[in-house]
Amino acid sequence: MKEEVKGNPVRVALCCRPLVPKEISEGCQMCLSFVAGEPQVVVGTDKSFTYDFVFDPSTEQEELFNTAVVLLIKGIFKSYNAMVLAYGQTGSGKTYSMRGAYTTEQENDPTVGVIPRVIQLLFKEIDKKNDFEFTLKVSYLEIYNEEILDLLFPSCEKAQINIWEDPKEGIKIVGLTEKTVLVALDTVSCLEQGNNSRTVASTAMNSQSSRSHAIFKIPVEQRKKSDRNSSFYSKLHLVDLAGSERHKKTKAKGDHLKEGLLCLGNVISALGDDNKVGFVPYRDSKLTRLFQGSLGGNSHTLMIACVSPADSNLEETYNSYKSCTLPG
Ligand code: ADP
Ligand code: MG
Repeated sequence: MKEEVKGNPVRVALCCRPLVPKEISEGCQMCLSFVAGEPQVVVGTDKSFTYDFVFDPSTEQEELFNTAVVLLIKGIFKSYNAMVLAYGQTGSGKTYSMRGAYTTEQENDPTVGVIPRVIQLLFKEIDKKNDFEFTLKVSYLEIYNEEILDLLFPSCEKAQINIWEDPKEGIKIVGLTEKTVLVALDTVSCLEQGNNSRTVASTAMNSQSSRSHAIFKIPVEQRKKSDRNSSFYSKLHLVDLAGSERHKKTKAKGDHLKEGLLCLGNVISALGDDNKVGFVPYRDSKLTRLFQGSLGGNSHTLMIACVSPADSNLEETYNSYKSCTLPG
């Protein structure tokens, strides 16, 4: 395994889930195949796409985590920022990959997703670093229709949350709850609390979760015990993006949402394009503004592109391939 994340700071892992029971009962067929030992997916018999990583439907959550995520988390302790984003159409497995079927009692459950695994690893690494002191905070927010919702304090007035650019500290979200966490269990509780708020909101607002971006954020401050002035910050973002499917033009709210994803695509292309030094259009949406300073530069990003293998989803799956193929 490589020791450091090298090359393009944004890497893509294509993650194909198995057919779900509903697809099987509807007679859907697998329309994707995989090449053993190659990070490649083949659609039908001829078209193939290559990514940094490709995980076929038999892949366990642990393998995805160990292969593609662990290095990003280790980078946090070398003052890199880290971001994991799940991208794909609704039903492709984004929430499954990020959250997994998780409760605090299921620590060793193989279906546990990226976020709880990241939390466990973070605190395991912290325990090893006796020369350092750490301060970890957690916030959990949702962007729906270009509005920010605080998932750790759901009744909070939307208008009170604002993005603000501090000349020294960079992007700050004013009015958002930040909880200091001391152990993995505290952190997982925040995750569960936010997940519950998300579920309640989505039932009330007609499946909002497929149309909103959920961002779990852990800023990590670390300093040498022997030198109190040695402190540095790393930001960790874990993101379950809104469904990438194309919404009908008549739905104005859907357009807003698409903008967020479109802007993210533009930012990632600008970052990956070596010839286009300079302008990165962060300011075009709330989503990308939040990521300013945490994408590109001193940051390692993994895009988990989730796809369904079912032939009935082929068109959206193609769109995902195209969107997740990086320049260069
Ligand atoms: P999304 O968040 O992209 O809308 P979900 O994560 O809710 O999609 O997944 C849709 C369905 O597929 C769920 O029933 C989920 O349990 C199932 N699923 C997704 N990924 C996997 C996987 N790797 N293995 C088994 N089932 C999966
Ligand atoms: Mg989901």
